[in-house]
Amino acid sequence: MIVTIDEPTFRESVDLMVDRAMSVMGLDDGTATAIKSCNAVLQVKFPVKIRGKFEVFTGWRATHSTHRLPSKGGIRYAPYADQDEVEALAALMTYKCAIVDVPFGGSKGALLIDPSQYERDELEMITRRFAHELVRKGFLSPSTNVPAPDVGTGQREMAWIADTYKHLHPEDINYIACVTGKPLHHGGIHGRVEATGRGVQYVLREFFRHPDDVKSANMLGTLTGKTCVIQGLGNVGYHAAKFLSEEDGVIITAVIERDGALINDKGINIEDLYNHIIDHGSITNFPGASLEVNGIAVLEKECDILIPAALERQITLENADRIQAKLIVEAANGPITYGADELLNKKGIIIIPDAFANAGGVTVSYFEWIRNISHIRLGRMQKRHDETQGLQMAAMLEELTGSKISDSFKKTVAHGADELDLVRSGLDDTMRTAYQQIRETLLSNENIHDFRTASYVTSITKIARSYLDVGIY
Ligand code: GLU
Repeated sequence: MIVTIDEPTFRESVDLMVDRAMSVMGLDDGTATAIKSCNAVLQVKFPVKIRGKFEVFTGWRATHSTHRLPSKGGIRYAPYADQDEVEALAALMTYKCAIVDVPFGGSKGALLIDPSQYERDELEMITRRFAHELVRKGFLSPSTNVPAPDVGTGQREMAWIADTYKHLHPEDINYIACVTGKPLHHGGIHGRVEATGRGVQYVLREFFRHPDDVKSANMLGTLTGKTCVIQGLGNVGYHAAKFLSEEDGVIITAVIERDGALINDKGINIEDLYNHIIDHGSITNFPGASLEVNGIAVLEKECDILIPAALERQITLENADRIQAKLIVEAANGPITYGADELLNKKGIIIIPDAFANAGGVTVSYFEWIRNISHIRLGRMQKRHDETQGLQMAAMLEELTGSKISDSFKKTVAHGADELDLVRSGLDDTMRTAYQQIRETLLSNENIHDFRTASYVTSITKIARSYLDVGIY
């Protein structure tokens, strides 16, 4: 992480961005403070016997808001985790859910651990023990608080969490909805793993459907052929880069990773690089690009689109002035500090903020949760029905026109949507609708000049309405 001299902490940074939005809304102080406050934070310390010795682990779960239940947000495993970070991330979840109309409060959890130092079985013991603590302290259940994957966790950890909850609450018919991001055979949903990256792609597609917005970022035309620098080839960065390059013709000119950056102005093949990292555990010696050891400096490389998809606080007062991208899409949470954000706004760089740009993950988590509490796979009831209707329609068209319809067209109209189709369609619609709402806010208020403030105003307006509707209890 870049050293940030005299900059506010991550949580303070989020609060300052929220304050900036609230100042143009004329919200009364009481409601503003109620919305901003973190409702509850749990810190646990628990021992686990590892290789014959007790180790004590520290974990947190912050519930930022409960105006909608359950409260939702991932659990990260990281050696740098702390309470400030967890609270900041929990707050971001509140605003994120409201932006994309996911009816959840905001929460986040973290375990202070370097997962690479532990064996699979050890991680299972630690995760199960952490989940046990969360359940017992009232911070994990399908109706009140539902975790998901984040940095350092994935489907495997979510399956262990679900199984731990099931053993503690076998009478809960909805036990499997206590966590999202689970493996498919364990109550997961198609399209959840790719969801955050897919959401980033849908956001960019929608941005490029608005020529005025493209122009405001000093660009012209479509997404095809635009150059892109991406930081982080984890789950989010990998999927975003893969979809944008393979499906939209975006040229990935640099990939920044922990051990440096790879540069190729003609474009890096993401699938090849991903396989290289899996095989060699590093980006070095990748044949398709040149290596720059000072990876972080590559954030400053000239490009159309910069996608920070790694960790928080990567663009700070130290490097913000040297950023040359025209558009920044925050696929990670909190990659730009408050001071850097102000500076980039002044420079005229357009920023699509985290609370919107990476909301694809929680959106598909919402679909998974609905699938779990309704106990049925999406599309199961209508797929064959839709197929039959499509075939009948094609037959009728042939009869009416007297000419044959091509097999490929017939195949398209007779395709009943399966779960993945429905998830992608729901996600696409969610991201487009949210973009349009944010855009409308930006254009309709002369005191709002940037997408982040517009996103927060859109979000806080919805949250405030829900506080005012029910009163504050
Ligand atoms: N960890 C993800 C995020 O930061 C996903 C949260 C969720 O699906 O609940 O948005």
